Amino acid sequence: MTGAVAATRPGGGEGCTEPAVRHDPGQRAVFCGLTGIVWLHRKIQDAFFLVVGSRTCAHLIQSAAGVMIFAEPRFATAIIEERDLAGLADMNEELDRVVTRLLERRPDIKLLFLVGSCPSEVIKLDLKRASERLATRFAPGVRVLNYSGSGIETTFTQGEDACLASLVPTLADDPAGAPPSLLVVGALADVVEDQLARLFDQMGLRRFGFLPARRSEAMPAVGPGTRFLLAQPYLGDTARALEARGAVHLPAPFPLGAEGTTLWLKAAADAFAVPSANFEAATVLGRQRAERAIARYRDRLAGRRVMFFPDSQLEVPLARFLAREIGMQPVEVATPYLHRRHLAAELDLLPDGTVLSEAPDVDRQLDRCREARPDLTVCGLGLANPLEAEGLSTKWSIELLFTPLQGYDQAADLVDLFARPLVRRAALKV
Ligand code: SF4
Repeated sequence: MTGAVAATRPGGGEGCTEPAVRHDPGQRAVFCGLTGIVWLHRKIQDAFFLVVGSRTCAHLIQSAAGVMIFAEPRFATAIIEERDLAGLADMNEELDRVVTRLLERRPDIKLLFLVGSCPSEVIKLDLKRASERLATRFAPGVRVLNYSGSGIETTFTQGEDACLASLVPTLADDPAGAPPSLLVVGALADVVEDQLARLFDQMGLRRFGFLPARRSEAMPAVGPGTRFLLAQPYLGDTARALEARGAVHLPAPFPLGAEGTTLWLKAAADAFAVPSANFEAATVLGRQRAERAIARYRDRLAGRRVMFFPDSQLEVPLARFLAREIGMQPVEVATPYLHRRHLAAELDLLPDGTVLSEAPDVDRQLDRCREARPDLTVCGLGLANPLEAEGLSTKWSIELLFTPLQGYDQAADLVDLFARPLVRRAALKV
């Protein structure tokens, strides 16, 4: 598919300072949503992810997550064999057998996700019905849900969105008349979650929770009194599902860097009428620590040009962070999908003239990259090696999901991820 380049304004044209968005659709090169299992299985400690897919799917998950030798794995693939595809076996019966064997062997599993893939979608295996059937059979000990991690028309972070959206209908109702509560939405490393919880405590918030929780029985309640902050920009379906339960989204930039984290926390503080003195007291030390950590990199990175290929959907918040806090120059910020409402606060902070593209054609963007020769290119694994071979420094965008980056105390790690490829290339030149 090809398309002409046209510039439109995000948000339907309100606001005169919003950056133009390049629409240049075509081929893309991204991982599929199964990748999210890599960080989700570490987060929800009594969950299991059973991919219903092909050997390719099994290989992807195994190589992305690494082999766990000493621990019982919390993910596996039920392989769809040729005889299944040929209709020679009843796939539902086989799936039930696999799940029964798994749950008998692993009583620690309390939440089972059946994860759809391209093959299961192509043959139209109804995993929703399968999960309902298995949920009835294994209730109340095990909850069974399903979502799709297929790579058809999705990007790799959308697996997390689909997983969390499948959890929302199972969340308990927040009791009527309960005081408003804050919900942080998005899988965060435990260390980040603990830091944020301490900050909320210090701000004086008493009712707050995280989705997903670390254990299935600890998932937060939701209702019209819930005010939620997204920790990640790619959680559109989850946000919609929460809004359908009456929860209210708090617009904010994302908690990347000192500024992003402060504005994100401030959105919660304002929603819960936290006095400014309490907010300042809770955040000042963390903010100063983050600012000092970031400043140490500024000399090396300021003025360097960075280009983003569309991959993680974190591109806009990262470009904002690199431009405003480090002084880097975004040459082009491409993202697979520009969620205008959830990114509105980020778009407002981007430097004037930033070139944004939504789901651009990969070959044409590669041409632009070769012409611009940015100092750093943030892209998927498949593009990184060829670009490195052409003398360009790259950063794998998937690393941004495997590393805890949100909040004040991760700011140094965040900026270090972008500094490392440049330091490495400088060392190679010596
Ligand atoms: S879900 Fe699709 S894209 Fe992902 S590994 Fe399986 S076949 Fe490949």
